[in-house]
Amino acid sequence: MKVKFWGVRGSIPSPIKGISIREKIKNILTLAKPSDLLDEQSIKNFINSLPFSLTHTYGGNTTCLEIRTEKNELIIIDAGTGIRELGNVLLNEGYNDGKGECHILFTHTHWDHIQGLPFFTPFYIKGNVFHIHGISDNLEHRLRYQHNFEHFPVSFDKMEATKIFYQHKEGESFQIYDLTITSKGMKHPGGSYSYKIKEKEKTIIFGSDAEFRLDNIDNLDPYIEYFKDADILIFDTQYTFEEQLKKIDWGHSSAAVATDLALKANVKNLVLFHHDPSYSDETLDEVFLRAKRYRDMIDSENKKSLKIHIAYEGLELFV
Ligand SMILES: [Zn+2]
Ligand SMILES: [Zn+2]
Repeated sequence: MKVKFWGVRGSIPSPIKGISIREKIKNILTLAKPSDLLDEQSIKNFINSLPFSLTHTYGGNTTCLEIRTEKNELIIIDAGTGIRELGNVLLNEGYNDGKGECHILFTHTHWDHIQGLPFFTPFYIKGNVFHIHGISDNLEHRLRYQHNFEHFPVSFDKMEATKIFYQHKEGESFQIYDLTITSKGMKHPGGSYSYKIKEKEKTIIFGSDAEFRLDNIDNLDPYIEYFKDADILIFDTQYTFEEQLKKIDWGHSSAAVATDLALKANVKNLVLFHHDPSYSDETLDEVFLRAKRYRDMIDSENKKSLKIHIAYEGLELFV
């Protein structure tokens, strides 16, 4: 399976500002030595030596992921603003001619997970078929409501693709293509559901939005069991540890909690996800570094079996 990230922010889109780009350029120029700029190769080497935040941005779009099976079949998770750009790419895969068909899983319907749907062009093209899955009740009504005339000029039915809704029960597994999907409710205001996607022996778990705290580790066993041996666990790490202490019951976790859970569950790859909209690229570099340091600190047997990644727009992982 492959997972590709199209939107990695939590709460609200947070486009990078021109002033931040100017700051990155200033910092890069300050770091450059004459020997870094001799020829194309030395410039490339210099760029490759810079921190991620100086040469990239983590991205400002809200939650949307693309999952591909071995046979390249498509599942989309959530329809935050990242789905707009995914939709544009899908137009070259038959969706422009009304020949596209795929599945969309919704974790919940907070705005940052649905607000890209009205701008998802394949939804407007007759002939495309979307199988829409959710555990939250009345999912169809919730998505239609976003298209009320008071909120958006185009009604849900004016988007002419065929939309078929599937209501699932938490914990009950279901099949999509050759995949087995299971789910688990997460602690989050209004409710949110994690999906575990299994193809043959490989497992990807999407676990955002979720509030887990180090000072409240009771009843974690069912989650550790659910996350057990996952090849990839994508987890809500919206806050730094300090910030999380100030925002109890806001419904999100920190990288430290995620690392603890991932180590306990013997997860192979942990992906830090659902970044706070107020965090700059430089702050996210720091979040990533601290998460890796924390892992090394608490992984006392020094097994180093847990690999930590931080989500950015365009990141692709394969299992
Ligand atoms: Zn969210
Ligand atoms: Zn949410």
